[in-house]
Amino acid sequence: MKPVAFDYHAPANVEDAMALLTRYRGEAKLLAGGQSLMPLLNFRLSRPAALVDLNAIPSLTYIREEDGMVRLGAMTRQRSIEFSPVIRRRLPLLAEATTLVGHLPIRTRGTIGGSLAHADPSAEYPAVFTALDGTVVVRGPRGERALRPSELFRSYLATSLRPDEILVEVRLPAMTTGAGFAFEEFSRRHGDFAIVGIAAMLAGDGQRCTAARLATAGAGPVPIRLRAAEEILERDGLSEAALEAAARRAAELVEPDSDIHASAAYRRNLTRVLTGRALRRAKARMGDR
Ligand SMILES: Cc1cc2nc3c(=O)[nH]c(=O)nc-3n(C[C@H](O)[C@H](O)[C@H](O)COP(=O)(O)OP(=O)(O)OC[C@H]3O[C@@H](n4cnc5c(N)ncnc54)[C@H](O)[C@@H]3O)c2cc1C
Repeated sequence: MKPVAFDYHAPANVEDAMALLTRYRGEAKLLAGGQSLMPLLNFRLSRPAALVDLNAIPSLTYIREEDGMVRLGAMTRQRSIEFSPVIRRRLPLLAEATTLVGHLPIRTRGTIGGSLAHADPSAEYPAVFTALDGTVVVRGPRGERALRPSELFRSYLATSLRPDEILVEVRLPAMTTGAGFAFEEFSRRHGDFAIVGIAAMLAGDGQRCTAARLATAGAGPVPIRLRAAEEILERDGLSEAALEAAARRAAELVEPDSDIHASAAYRRNLTRVLTGRALRRAKARMGDR
């Protein structure tokens, strides 16, 4: 199928893009990498009056490190993130997760802003963003706002972004030097969306854990932090028994749904298995960097 007819605009700056969104009163869609939006248009599941293409706005593409924070422009391509030395050094969890996003051509076009705004609960970036407790900066006619993961994600493919707002920047705190990390996921074929994915980060000295981070993909309508599982590790350390207890607790914390890909019970079990794997791999990597 082909999309319904739409107007097309390629503004050269964010202000002009915002003016267009206002002009179309919620009937325009932003186009980033198009890797999720174009299929929706082709299937006519999305029927916007206009597309506002962000690809001609160079100021939305950058990776900067500042005061312990890594800032990424919304239009930064997944492929640039995969090979960025700053990301490899400061956010290796994000670098690893990126290699699991779709296939090379998808990562070449797809953007970090598009992935977070699209809010597919099975996607890797929302899980990493949640695990590392990042912030997105959003600009609209009423000014700028900063949203944390629990404020951004609302449900399946739904965020608190308003139709006249643009996600302009993603901020992630740099990971502690020596922190272990792993992104574990299960999908039917390489490059498919995960049935369940787990983002993990462990800081400490190999036995003691000063900070644990765990977040899900595919285990419910939005990615969630598995705080009660993290607390087990921060309290009891990183023995095999503690890792296993945290993995079991993780499975109790999620509220997955059944769909054509997997039942809720299967997803819950995967959460336990993948949390265990992610924690063991993260622990083995502690002190490596
Ligand atoms: C075959 C295939 C396999 C894939 N596999 C995976 C996978 O395994 N894991 C994964 O995470 N993703 C996967 N994807 C999706 C891919 O990562 C997309 O690139 C991503 O979800 C959306 O990013 P995009 O830049 O392409 O956004 P677009 O498709 O251009 O936009 C997506 C949505 O976000 C909105 N939007 C985009 N940018 C902004 C912004 N700056 N501010 C506000 N709203 C904005 C758009 O209006 C649209 O509603 C796959 C895609 C395909 C086609």
